[in-house]
Amino acid sequence: MNKVYDAIVVGGGHNGLVAACYLAKAGKKVLVLEKRHEFGGATKSSYAFEGVAAKISRYSYLVALLPDQIIQDLDLEFQTLSRTVSSYTPSDSTGVLINRIFDEDSSKSIEQIAGDKSEALAWREFYSRIAKVAELLAPTMLEPLKGEGEIKKLIGPTLWSEFMDRPISESLNQNFKSDLIKGIVLTDGLIGTFASATERLANICFLYHLIGNGTGEWKVPKGGMGALISALLQRARELGVELREGVEITRVSNSESGVMVESDKGELFDSKLVIAGCAPTVLAKISGLAAPKSRDGSQVKINMVLKRLPKLKSGIDPEIAFAGTFHIDESYSQLERAFQQAKSGEIPDVIPAEMYCHTLTDPSILSKEMHAAGNHTLTLFALHTPAPLFDKDHENAKAEVTKRILHGLNSYLAEPIEDLLLRDSSGRPCIEIKTPQELEAEIDLPRGNIFHADLSFPWKSEGEVGKWGVETSNERILLAGAGSKRGGGVSGIGGHNAAMAALERLEVIN
Ligand SMILES: Cc1cc2nc3c(=O)[nH]c(=O)nc-3n(C[C@H](O)[C@H](O)[C@H](O)COP(=O)(O)OP(=O)(O)OC[C@H]3O[C@@H](n4cnc5c(N)ncnc54)[C@H](O)[C@@H]3O)c2cc1C
Repeated sequence: MNKVYDAIVVGGGHNGLVAACYLAKAGKKVLVLEKRHEFGGATKSSYAFEGVAAKISRYSYLVALLPDQIIQDLDLEFQTLSRTVSSYTPSDSTGVLINRIFDEDSSKSIEQIAGDKSEALAWREFYSRIAKVAELLAPTMLEPLKGEGEIKKLIGPTLWSEFMDRPISESLNQNFKSDLIKGIVLTDGLIGTFASATERLANICFLYHLIGNGTGEWKVPKGGMGALISALLQRARELGVELREGVEITRVSNSESGVMVESDKGELFDSKLVIAGCAPTVLAKISGLAAPKSRDGSQVKINMVLKRLPKLKSGIDPEIAFAGTFHIDESYSQLERAFQQAKSGEIPDVIPAEMYCHTLTDPSILSKEMHAAGNHTLTLFALHTPAPLFDKDHENAKAEVTKRILHGLNSYLAEPIEDLLLRDSSGRPCIEIKTPQELEAEIDLPRGNIFHADLSFPWKSEGEVGKWGVETSNERILLAGAGSKRGGGVSGIGGHNAAMAALERLEVIN
């Protein structure tokens, strides 16, 4: 124990690596310690199926929140690709197709489902209002936290009232008539969040899903999510960051030089500051700091590799239907019913889910042979399947949830998805299912919460302390992960803000 680091980062997810790169770029001595034998956390790509040359984004899959500024500041070799389609929602024998650039065809598609022209107009107006919020809020995400009053003034009273003050359910019910259209809009308020449309948490989740880079566009990471980690690792090495994997931190305590970090193997590391890239609950366990109270994770993730894309009952070309987000049973009433059922401890009879095909936008994650054979990956994210549903009898609950999700998907397909699954080299179908409990076991997401902790509005409420939203009650310990304020999702924002706070602290300490 002869070296004192300026900062030790606990956890090598993307946020931890972003923090490390910014600090090293400023000339600081940084060590990153990652528990697993691979960096990346929830931002990994993996060959999930034996002998199958498809490198899938195993957990997170789309990028919107990562500011271009971080990519530029760190000179990362990482690209995201636009999708041609925003979403397709099958319904009986037809469906709603919304193109990424909202056009006449998108309008007609909405009109045909809603039965009149006003719904498409309402859609345009609703999204132009939230786009205005995005434009104003996005630039604040990498600045010191503004107070609620300042943000309210910035956004103006009308938009504030619609998107922050009143439950999102009110705006949806006021603006839209169709149950299906309301549901398509609402999904952004529920992804990764176990909430009803009437709860404030849905407003917060909605906001995060629509403000990324000032446009809210969800893009496909070229080469898969793991490409972001590769780019960050490469940059971290070039900048002289020390990187160690397979080192689990079990204790963080104050020391003479600042903070002492201890590993499961009894190794000790000394540092002026500790930056936690892990979840706040993990940090609480190893440091004795208080953990935030948060809801459990509530999603099931399914990864599949297919021989080819399935045909649909509605007759739409699968290459169009799956090019954007494919919504399954996500009408407003289906979402609310599933939430209420899950809240009362029942597995929802109809499980809302959404799905996307990476390989239609970016085939580079497949081998040339697989691409030529017409193979594709599909990623499904099911909502309202919270951790408590799996607590008692994990395996049976998992089997039942999987059955219901696939039944929901198959009800819109002209051929069962099971028949199209590719087989791995041992003859097993290429499908993997991850419950919240499995996400916790594999990558330490507390109770499977994909944002580490409940999201909160990206500004300072009255009485809240902390300049960057990364501070803890120990001035030597900062949060960098998704659980820091403004940190949820694949954004690097927590990492950036922790690095800024750390640089300011180091100025005072040194
Ligand atoms: C199924 C799923 C789908 C998602 N989809 C999307 C999406 O499409 N788009 C999006 O923006 N977001 C998505 N998310 C959310 C997003 O992936 C996460 O919020 C984000 O990746 C968190 O990044 P992070 O760097 O803060 O933390 P993590 O990625 O959780 O990394 C934390 C790291 O800390 C390590 N660690 C934990 N404890 C210790 C310890 N004691 N010692 C050392 N190391 C430790 C872990 O092993 C891990 O590597 C999804 C998440 C999941 C699970």
